[in-house]
Amino acid sequence: MKYIDEFRDGELAQRIGAAIRAEALPDHRYNLMEFCGGHTHAISRYGVGDLLPPSVRMIHGPGCPVCVLPIGRVDLAIELALQRQAIVCTYGDCLRVPASNNLSLLKAKARGGDVRMVYTPADALKAAQGNPDREVVFFAIGFETTTPPTALVIKQAAALGLKNFSVICNHVLTPAAITHILESPEVRELGTLSLDGFIGPAHVSTIIGSQPYEFFAEEYRKPVVIAGFEPLDVMQAILMLVRQINQGRAVVENEFTRAVTRDGNLKAQALVSEVFELRRSFEWRGLGEVPYSALRIRDEYAAFDAEQRFALATRQVADNKACECGAILRGVKHPRDCKVFGTVCTPENPIGSCMVSSEGACAAYYSYGRFREIPIAVVAA
Ligand code: SF4
Repeated sequence: MKYIDEFRDGELAQRIGAAIRAEALPDHRYNLMEFCGGHTHAISRYGVGDLLPPSVRMIHGPGCPVCVLPIGRVDLAIELALQRQAIVCTYGDCLRVPASNNLSLLKAKARGGDVRMVYTPADALKAAQGNPDREVVFFAIGFETTTPPTALVIKQAAALGLKNFSVICNHVLTPAAITHILESPEVRELGTLSLDGFIGPAHVSTIIGSQPYEFFAEEYRKPVVIAGFEPLDVMQAILMLVRQINQGRAVVENEFTRAVTRDGNLKAQALVSEVFELRRSFEWRGLGEVPYSALRIRDEYAAFDAEQRFALATRQVADNKACECGAILRGVKHPRDCKVFGTVCTPENPIGSCMVSSEGACAAYYSYGRFREIPIAVVAA
């Protein structure tokens, strides 16, 4: 398939792997964070780690929207479904995110809640049009990539004069999370997390462009390479980061030139800022409260803000004590460090959010890494 097969070419992967092994200095450590769960998935699925030298270490970042969704936010949607009899629409992965009282949206559905899986926010809007006597709430999650479609349906609902449609907005922002990690005690004080560079997310960057990452290169001296989600994209980005580090450079480079520009999608950005504004603070699972890291619906569209419409208040709820998701999302632990990984916690019975989505570090490691003892080569899927 065009734009897929050529980025999964095993022979080319071996050549890039050889270049990384040749150029990475054996006495140097290259601690590289792949911010996005899409990269984590690709690295695990295609055995990218097996082609890297011991000096290059990949660290999973918090860029999986399902993984960073705090329990208190899922509780809001469950409350609407079970106690207010609203139709709650959301993306498939959200349905299984563990919430309070051993519930999830899927379990709430089993208890009689009208919870529906949708592929796009437009499906939720359709549900509202088709059920004028019911409240329909879209539980919106995601980074900058999924924010414009949510903005669009809010605008459409306003234009249609819908009175029964609203949104719980959980949209979060990539640059704020990277700043939070770079300012974390683990990086700045304790020295337990060493970071030498970032692989930046391609899809987010199609919207925001490469420009927002320049701050990290200039202020923190951390190179960033924006990369696609195929194995060759990721390997090329690792090679580009190794080269920057060897040369003492820290700039933003764009491996994903097939879709990312410096300025991004200006039309989408304008749409988002028309409907949303920054929240002062937002809780991320694993990272805690992160200032200016998420969006809320502007007052002009308050009628479509489910938090205001239903006077919802988010409670902070601690994760399951056995779960190491928080430390994994901060990059300081690996899924294998969790005592319940693969035993009590599996994709069928996730205890923590990192085991839910295929982009979650635990789910990716469970699916592709847990039994591998000998290196495997990158192969076309
Ligand atoms: S294996 Fe499960 S419980 Fe452990 S950190 Fe991962 S998601 Fe959390």
